[in-house]
Amino acid sequence: MKALVLRADWDPRPDYQVSDWERDSGKAVTGSSVWRRPRLQVEEAGTPVPAPHQVLVQVKACGICGSDVHFYETDRDGYMLYPGLTRFPSTVGHEFSGVVVQKGADVTDLAVGDLVTAEEMIWCGHCGPCRNGYPNQCVNLEEIGFTVDGAAAEYIAIGAKYCWKINAIGERLGDEQRTLEIGALTEPASVAYNGMFEAAGGFRPGQYVAVFGAGPIGLAAIGLARAAGAGKVIAFETSAPRRDLALKVGADSAHDPTQLQASEVLLEASAGDGFDFFVEAAGAPQHTVPEMEAALAIGAKVVQIGRAAIRVPMYLERLQVRKAKVYGAQGHSGYGNFPNVIRLTASGRLDLYPIITGRFPLADGVRAIEQASKRTGGKILLTT
Ligand SMILES: [Zn+2]
Ligand SMILES: [Zn+2]
Repeated sequence: MKALVLRADWDPRPDYQVSDWERDSGKAVTGSSVWRRPRLQVEEAGTPVPAPHQVLVQVKACGICGSDVHFYETDRDGYMLYPGLTRFPSTVGHEFSGVVVQKGADVTDLAVGDLVTAEEMIWCGHCGPCRNGYPNQCVNLEEIGFTVDGAAAEYIAIGAKYCWKINAIGERLGDEQRTLEIGALTEPASVAYNGMFEAAGGFRPGQYVAVFGAGPIGLAAIGLARAAGAGKVIAFETSAPRRDLALKVGADSAHDPTQLQASEVLLEASAGDGFDFFVEAAGAPQHTVPEMEAALAIGAKVVQIGRAAIRVPMYLERLQVRKAKVYGAQGHSGYGNFPNVIRLTASGRLDLYPIITGRFPLADGVRAIEQASKRTGGKILLTT
């Protein structure tokens, strides 16, 4: 089968302390400090054979994520930009859907022919955090497309317990290709859902929601805010095509934060009351936090979903006076996140189909990632 494989050299920066665990596991905790000269190409690979607890999924659609772009982009010294947990070589790709074509002997709740999507986080289920109900904080985490082979390939073998059926979406749409394309958006949408409704505990219908950053996660957050009954949803995004997408998925207005003061827009839109719920999906807290801080409604919530390896000041007095709260969130597993996103999609209340702005065949995978690196459109899919 064909697979889009990333290879890179293990060449830790002189000032990076490689731990024994990293050396033994071959996994870098901070990928951007270890992996140099990343090389991406479509290769011929063996079709995986599912273990007893796994299914073999024929991949039909696989989204390109910002992290895939960060694998490919390098700094001046040739180190990849992606700062997280990684082990290479690996087939990339972690936002996918497909058809179950084979199942291991122990798999009982999936059938050949089922349409599925899957979690990206291969949580172990037996470490302390997993046992205590925190799969997104699993200490034995593997991640498809990061530390183990991913879904930018014709087939992937994956544990059945990470898969979720999307047949119900197909029943509404009656169009298998469209179902599979929308199904591949479940993973990024579940990242937004986990941050907004699990980590931050959501907002009340009628409350005002601001979303900073309208990349795929921010766009999903806008759609979810709308579906959950926000009284108003306002988006901030520097790219004009992405602002258009924000409007398509449910924002009441979308603004370029380099052309105006976001906090002023929010205060004006709320008659001075401020906004109740803020989603940071820009990964630019040095710009977004001061604006959010200046437009906090009493009791406001801020959830940080975008990734940024920087420290930013926050005036805590302001949080106290406004009785505001800041939440951190990562991941998408557990808490009903995936099934609830699938239900919303199957009902039509969440429709992220417009955010798909590019489709490439797997053979053009490198070109697809180059296109995504322009960061101007919505989600780019590899389709087979
Ligand atoms: Zn991703
Ligand atoms: Zn675990």
